[in-house]
Parts: sequence; structure tokens; C-alpha cells
Amino acid sequence: MLASYAVEHSRGRRYPEPTHPYRNDFQRDRDRVIHSRAFRRLEAKTQVFTRRYSDHFRNRLTHTLEVAQISRTIAGQLGLNVYLVEALALVHDIGHPPFGHAGERALDAVMGKHGFSFDHNLHALRIVEDFELRYAAFPGLNLTFEVREGIIKHSRDYSAREFPELAEYLLDQRPPLEAQLIDITDELAYNTADLDDGYEAKLLTLEQIIEGVPLFAQLFREIEQRYPDAQKKLQFNEVLRRMLDRWVGDLIENTRGQIQQSGVATLDDLRACAHRLAGLSPEIEAERRQTKQFLHRNLYFTPALEPEKEAAERIITDLFELWMTHPEKLPGNYREKAQSEPLARVVCDYIAGMTDPYIYEQYEKHCG
Ligand code: MG
Repeated sequence: MLASYAVEHSRGRRYPEPTHPYRNDFQRDRDRVIHSRAFRRLEAKTQVFTRRYSDHFRNRLTHTLEVAQISRTIAGQLGLNVYLVEALALVHDIGHPPFGHAGERALDAVMGKHGFSFDHNLHALRIVEDFELRYAAFPGLNLTFEVREGIIKHSRDYSAREFPELAEYLLDQRPPLEAQLIDITDELAYNTADLDDGYEAKLLTLEQIIEGVPLFAQLFREIEQRYPDAQKKLQFNEVLRRMLDRWVGDLIENTRGQIQQSGVATLDDLRACAHRLAGLSPEIEAERRQTKQFLHRNLYFTPALEPEKEAAERIITDLFELWMTHPEKLPGNYREKAQSEPLARVVCDYIAGMTDPYIYEQYEKHCG
């Protein structure tokens, strides 16, 4: 049963298509995302670690699956459109370049020198609108309005003045709850997963986490009392799953409360609402922020990861400059694109689509 403020039907696709006999529009979009080349490339893109410290690490694909699984649970509890949520979760990181956030910063910096910028949400929209070639009748995946809107609006607001090209996405309105959820779920997923991967990589110690994350410390004391003889790693796992469960439960309850308080009854009410309604309660939001700050200080900016970040920056910067000065070395389809689009944008699109191993290969070939 869908709630009265859930997305029930799509406003449609850019190129109208007949309905499918047994899949609704959002199921079809979910399937189109899963069958896209950009989705498959997520497997070889960095989430946090470029180097493989072990075989058990998240990459962008497994992270994406975790976000989809958590979001589905939340959406079901809130009476939202689970198919739309699933499509949005599966597509949410599709615009990320190789080498994670280091890659994103490097690409934005080199684009800045040419008067442009790089934004992974805008890039994701270009992928699904343009770069994926699967259908004879139209370019891209011809996704529904709601999925394209969610790609743009799930994590931030874009001003209509600064981004006139996004006007069709109702920039003065809030996105549906299905999209609002994704950004928070994304954070809850990686805050817990990065503690796990950081501990597994031995970049974080148990003592360090206990000292730096009060919620973890409190739960760890409880687990030690309950399972005093269990291995440390199992105690650690028990704590992590309680953290995630606590945060997800709060997100459901608090969002439900916000909806009730706001008096929102329909999707139009929700879109017209002055602020987003999906979110954590102040207490849990403080826990999330503390954990995130801990990860920033102790994992994302640890000196141990500096060399791989520097390598990411060098590889992206050198390859970008190489193709800017020697566009004849680009593959044919990109040379062709450069006749109608700025060269910097074309080079950026080419690099952003690459997986980590592929860009290493290109670097060896051209700059090695
Ligand atoms: Mg993500």
C-alpha cells in the first residue's frame, strides 16, 4: 500500500514508450540501470581505497547494493514507492570518476583551469541521457522523469539561476521522499562500512574507534558484557550492525514524525514544502556527524592513504593535459564529439567514465 504522498505514477519519459505488460515504469528503470555499462563499471571504481588491502573491501558497486538494500527497507516502512527508491539507489553513484573523491577533486581542478567544473550528479545525468547506447529509437536509457529528477536532486539543491539547463527538474520544489531518502541512506551505509573496511585494513584500531566514536564505545561495552568470549572481530561486527539498525530505525521514525508534523498529505504538498522531510532526529544526527568527523580525521585523510591520492591526482591531471594538447590521441568517437562540444568537456567525460584499472592502463600507455 502506497502512502498518499508517495510517487504512484511517472510523469513520463522523454521519448514516450508503450507500457510493459508486467513491469511498471520504475521497475523498468531499475532494470535499465542494472543492465547499463556504467553500472557494471562501478565494480572497478574506488569507494575509499584504491589499493586492495584485502579481498573483503567495498567497491562502488557493493556500496551501491548496500544503499539499495537499506533504502528498500526504509521505503517499505514509510509506504513509499520501493521500485523508484531502488532505481534511485542503484543509479546514485553512477557518475563517479575513477579513484573516488580524490579523482573527483582532481577532475574538478583540471576542469577549473579551463573555465568548467566537474559534478558527479550532472555527469550521471549525461550518462543516462546520452552516453549509454542501448536502444535504436533514442539515445541514453530514456528513464522516467522521477529517476532523472532524483539523480539531480537527491543530495543537493541546484539553483535555477545557476543551472538554467536543469529547469525541467522543478528546482524550486523539493524532490519526492523517495529521492530525499537516498542521500541519508548513502551516508549511513558508508559511515558504518568505512569503519568496517578501515578496521579490516588495519588503518583504524579498535581502541582508536572506541576513543573517537562515543556511540561505538557504548555499544561495545554492552557487547563485551553479553558476548565476553566472542572474538574481537565478531564483537566489532555486532556493534556495527547495532549502529546501522539504530540509525535506520531513527530515520524511519523521525521521517514519519516530520511528515505528520508538516501536515503533508499529497505528493504536491510534499513538493511545495519549504524543507526536506526525510532526516534523522537531532540526537542521532549528532551521532552520525561525530562518526563522520572521526572517519575524516582518522581514515579519509590518514597519511597512509596520501600516496594513493597523490597518484590519483597525478594520473588524472597528466592524462587530461595530454588529451587537451593532443586531441588526435583520443578515440574516434570522442574526437567526433569534440567537434560540437568543448574539448575539455569531452576529455572530462572520457576520463570520468573510466574504471581504476582502465585509467592506470591509459597512463602506462601514454605517460608511463
Ligand atoms: Mg554513495
